[in-house]
This record gives sequence, structure tokens and C-alpha cells, in this order.
Amino acid sequence: MFKIAIVGAGPAGVSAASRLLKATANKNHDEFHVNLFDRSLVPWGLLRTGVAPDHPEVKHTAQTWSNVSDFPNFQFYGGVNISDLKKAGIKSELSLKELLDCHDSVLLCNGAYEARTLKIPGAESRRVINAQKLVGYYNGDVMQDWDLEPAHLQGNVGIIGGGNVALDVARVLLEPALLKPSDVSAKFLELAKEVHKISLFIRRGPFDLPCTTRELRELIHLPSVSNVIINGLDKPLGESEEYAKLMKSRKVQERKTKRLLKLLAESETDKKSESKFGKGKTVEFNFFHTPEINYESSDKISVEFSHRGETKRRDLSALVESLGYEKTPVSEFITDVNLDSGKAFAFDRPIYMSGWALGGAKGVVGDSTESSRLAVQSLFDDIENGILKSLPRKNMSSIEHSNWENWKKIDEEELRRGQENGKQRDKILSISEMIKITE
Ligand code: NAP
Repeated sequence: MFKIAIVGAGPAGVSAASRLLKATANKNHDEFHVNLFDRSLVPWGLLRTGVAPDHPEVKHTAQTWSNVSDFPNFQFYGGVNISDLKKAGIKSELSLKELLDCHDSVLLCNGAYEARTLKIPGAESRRVINAQKLVGYYNGDVMQDWDLEPAHLQGNVGIIGGGNVALDVARVLLEPALLKPSDVSAKFLELAKEVHKISLFIRRGPFDLPCTTRELRELIHLPSVSNVIINGLDKPLGESEEYAKLMKSRKVQERKTKRLLKLLAESETDKKSESKFGKGKTVEFNFFHTPEINYESSDKISVEFSHRGETKRRDLSALVESLGYEKTPVSEFITDVNLDSGKAFAFDRPIYMSGWALGGAKGVVGDSTESSRLAVQSLFDDIENGILKSLPRKNMSSIEHSNWENWKKIDEEELRRGQENGKQRDKILSISEMIKITE
């Protein structure tokens, strides 16, 4: 029997656990015992705390793995932080070395959750809000601080970045009422009622926009949005030579950009004509805008951008920084990481990595589960080749943790409260309340 520890109960971690346990159940491989660790008391990682509330179909993919607990060789260690760095406020912690002492190997699926921040003067202003915090707020993430001020989320909110997180935040801020039946946190709905304009500031041009077509379409097609403005270009997007060239291209690898830019170029024209009929909300894309300095006053933040050698100043109620995430390695002793196979070493022992922990913060749920499939295959190969061996290991039993039965109690309570309040789910918003429910 191989004892495997998986760190992180997001899609990468739970899909890997499910793969190992199914291999055991189907008797088509060695027997595995899986201990799944997460610093949170509850599973699903970004499916629960990152995916926007108006994407329930993505959140529901968690159901694919909800039966992991039915396998006899599975144990969930919720509230256990695996890191060489001690972190306050979390129930228990183990280092990677301690984890390896108790298991034959470790599969790291701990994501990448260190949000990038602006390094400009004035970035410490309370009106500069990190997207991670805002996403945590609307998703009821108990691992985030909850100190947003209502006055900051109204009028014209600026967002730095053009990735899918920026677009999620824009959508959620512009149309919070649509989220009422979802699992959105009620506190957030109170906060974000008065935003009428979102200005996205993107440091590169439209041809390098990192978001995807679906997310862009959802934003500009929001019922209340009647103005789409594109600033920062020499001429309208649809009239540029580069655009004309792209539209003529038959290259398969350019198809995605082609769809994205066609949508963007056409939306500007479409929405302009619609806006004649009514006063709606506005989405503004400012390309080639790099933030340089912020000045906060009592009722606004003024942001200076450099735009092709010129300085432009904008007054906003808040500035959301949505700059992506850095990897968050659990240990400094991880070496020889192979980005293709997910193989690595720690303390001269083979370990495995997948999802954002391996490749950084990019891609959707399917990319993370595919990355886990490859890492589990590497683990199978190493067993076959005698590189990974099952040996007597130390016992794990004494570590304080929250188990899967506790999660089921929290889950049931959230669903019950949701039903009571006409929502898909009403999340428990503090660790202490979660613990009370499990007692
Ligand atoms: P991202 O896609 O990496 O976008 C980050 C944005 O921040 C980029 O526009 C980047 O500009 C900009 N940026 C970074 N540092 C900056 C700085 N110092 N100053 C100004 N701009 C800066 O990150 P993300 O939006 O957080 O998304 C992370 C991953 O999650 C992506 O793969 C995304 O597709 C995925 N995701 C998917 C969904 C979905 O499928 N619905 C939803 C959310 C997230 P440059 O491009 O110039 O670097």
C-alpha cells in the first residue's frame, strides 16, 4: 500500500485523489491510501472561493469529485497548513519534510495564491483594493480580510489588468442584483449597489488582451451596460491595419484572438447606437495605460497613467488591482521540477506537482485536472520503474484537523440557509462559525 499525501483540495488535488483511489478500487494498480490536506476547513479551492457567483455551472464541477470520501482509503485533513513557513490563525501546520516522513510521496496541488500588487507611490491607499480580496469578499472566502468600505465601491471604479479575474470583478460590480439567487455573499450585495462605470486600464494593446471571449462577451452583454468605450488607440480598433490583417488570417492559432477582437471592435459600435435609447452603465477599455502614481483624497483616488509618453489623470472611487498571482511554494527544498511531467524532488525523494502550483496562475479548471492526470501518471511510472517505493512510515494520527464529515455538516447547513433565503447556497462567513457547526 502506497501512502500518498495530496496538498490542496482544489480541482487539481481532488481530481488527483479521485484518480489514485479509483485505480485502487478498480484493482488495476497498486493500492493507495490518500490523505488530502487543505489549509481551509472546506474543500474545492478556487471552485468555491475564486469562480464568480454567476458561473454556477463551473462551481458545480465539484460534484464530479464529491464521492472521494466514499473510498475507504481516503482521509481529509482540513485546516492543516503545509508549509515551511508558519502561518498564524490556521489550526495546525506541518512542514513538507514532516509530511514526507509519514507518506511514501507527496503531490503538491497547493495553487498559486500570492496576489501581485502595484509597486507605485500611493499603492497603499485604502482605495486600492486587491482583486483577490474583492473576489474573496463576494465569494465568502473565510481566508480573506473583510474590511472593505462601502464608500469605495460606487460611481466609477477603475481596474488595472485585462485578465479574466478583472472581467469577473467588472461584471460582478456592475450587476450585483443579478447575483442574488447565487451563492454570493449578502454583505457584498449591500456594498456594490452603486457602481455605474468600470474603467479597465490595460498596459498593453488589444492584441495582447489576456481575457477570453466568453468572459468579454458576458461583460459587454450585461443587460445594464449600454456604453462600451475603447480608449488609447490611434484609430478605432476595427479600422486598424493590424485588425484587418488578423481578420483575413486563416492561421488556427489566431482563431481565438480573432474572435475576441471581433467581439470587442463590434461591441463598441453596437453599444454606442444602443446608448441613444437609454442611459445605462459603461464599460471602458483604456489600452496602453500604465499606472504610475495615486493620490488619495477624502472622496476619491486620482490615478496618473503613462500613455504613450503622455501623463493622463483619472479620478475614481476605487482602483482594483487585478494583476494575477505568484506561485506559493510550500517549501524551499523542492528541486528538479519538470514542468511537463510534474515530477520533482524534495529531500532526495520523488514528489509530484500539478495545477497552478506547477505551472503558475494560468488556465481554467480543465487545465488543472489535466495537469493532475499527467502528475499521477508520472507517479504510476515511478512505481513501475522502482523509483518510488512503499516503505514503513511514521504515523499521522495525532495531528489536529477537521475531517470530511465536518465538511458535510457545513455543506448541509449552507444549503439549508440558502434554501431559506432563496439562494443556491448561503456560505458560512467565519472559521469560528464553521467550527461551531461541526461541534
Ligand atoms: P492574468 O490573466 O495573468 O492577467 C493579469 C493582468 O494584469 C494582465 O493584463 C497583466 O498585463 C496585468 N498586469 C500584471 N502586472 C501588472 C502591473 N504591474 N501593472 C499593470 N498591469 C499588470 O491574471 P488573472 O486575471 O488573475 O487570471 C489568472 C488565471 O485564471 C488566468 O489563466 C485566467 O484565465 C484564469 N481565470 C479564468 C476564469 C474563467 O475561465 N472564467 C476566471 C478567472 C480566472 P500583461 O498581460 O501586460 O502582463
